Formats: sequence, structure tokens, C-alpha cells
Amino acid sequence: MSKTTFRRILLKVSGEALLGELDYGIDPKVSSRIAREVAEVVDAGVQIGIVIGGGNIFRGKGLAASGIDRITGDHMGMLATVMNALGLQDALERAGVTTRVMSAISVREVCEDYIRRRAVRHLEKNRAVIFAAGTGNPFFTTDTAASLRAIEIGADLMIKATKVDGIYSADPELVPDAERYEQLSYDEVIERKLAVMDTNAIVLCRDQSMPIRIIDLNQPGNLDRLIRGESVGTLVS
Ligand code: UDP
Repeated sequence: MSKTTFRRILLKVSGEALLGELDYGIDPKVSSRIAREVAEVVDAGVQIGIVIGGGNIFRGKGLAASGIDRITGDHMGMLATVMNALGLQDALERAGVTTRVMSAISVREVCEDYIRRRAVRHLEKNRAVIFAAGTGNPFFTTDTAASLRAIEIGADLMIKATKVDGIYSADPELVPDAERYEQLSYDEVIERKLAVMDTNAIVLCRDQSMPIRIIDLNQPGNLDRLIRGESVGTLVS
């Protein structure tokens, strides 16, 4: 086992990432692949917390556009993340990773409530912890929840999994010669409106000096390479 530079990390996985080739729900091929990547991290002795999104099921904004009260829509979005968390927990346990789901909204029959000290204790016992229901408050996103939990658990790094291998000057799917950045400051991401995460999430990390790495989780082995010290994706610090 080669050395890793990290003790504890926080991984943000969007709900959309779980879609895979489906239009709705969780593609088991994707959840199993993510679970295997996470298992490698745990095997390397790195503690991992995961914040999961809900965009593959419901987003408050989208529901509000179709006439549902925004706050009710956000509650539905947060509960969608609880369903994703249970799906990912199942995939992780099949991959041999002991996992706890902790929710910012009480759903006590199916998972634990989020209590920071208890979360840290789970991590110390090398259990993966999935943080569900975002921040527990409407008008926030799971990106902001990821920043918050990364800071609360004292992670060394927050990793945002996306479909591209870092931050580009423009959408690389639309602009083929878009420039990929190795490293950016928090303020550069905000000022250039690089739309990689919402501004609240970046500001929180900036103010608490939490480094962020944007990586492509569809590229097998990226997470493992990153924890073993390779420069993967774009660093925001
Ligand atoms: N949400 C919320 N508060 C939070 C986190 C999420 O109200 O702290 C709601 C919001 O409606 C959001 C939905 O849950 O649209 C799903 O989260 P998000 O859009 O961040 O998921 P992702 O884009 O990562 O799949």
C-alpha cells in the first residue's frame, strides 16, 4: 500500500452523476463503480465522508417552476438526497465498505440524524459516512452542504466530482479549445463566473481555507490517483 497524503476527505457526488444512462433514478452500474472507487480510498486508510445530491430525482427550483411552493420543493429535493444516500449505502456495503447515512432532516426509521461528533466517531472507525438532506434548510444546495460538512469534519480536502476533468475557461463540450486550469484561487472562480459550484459553497471554503479539487469521477482510478498524491483535475485554494 503506497502512502497517502490525506487523512480525511469529503467527496461531493451530484444526483445527476447517479443517472448514468437512465433518465430518472439510480443506475446500478454507476453506483457500483463509485462504490468500488470509494472502497479503494478506505482500503488506503483514508477516512471519507460523502455528500450526495438529489438532482436525478427532484430539485426545488424545477418543482417551483412547475407551480409547487419553493420551500416544499426544496424539502422534496432534500428527501430525494436521502433516497440516493440509501442507494449509495447499499452499493458501498456490497463493495465491502461499512457505511452510515446521517441526515440533516430526521428520518429516524431509515438512517441516523446528523450529529457532528458522532459523524467524526464513525469516520475514526473507518466507516464511510454519507451526509444526506443537504444542509437541512431550503434555498441551499448540496454543494454548500458539502463545503459545510467538509469544514465541520475537519477534512483535508473537499472533492467535487463532475463529468469533466477540472475547470475550463468555457464549456469544453461546446468550445473545443477551452483552456483547462491546473489551479485557481477561490476569488478567480467567483469573479470569472466559472460556474463549477454555487458561490455560497466557494465562499464558505474560501473563508475557512478548505481546498477544493474538481475531478472527473467517470474516469476510473481518478480518486485513487488523487489520494496517492497525483495532481488530478483542478485545485481551488
Ligand atoms: N436542497 C435544499 N437544501 C440543501 C440542499 C439541497 O433545499 O441544503 C434541495 C434543493 O431543492 C436542491 C435539491 O435539494 O435542488 C437537490 O440538491 P442539489 O440540487 O444540490 O443536487 P445535485 O445538483 O447535486 O444533484
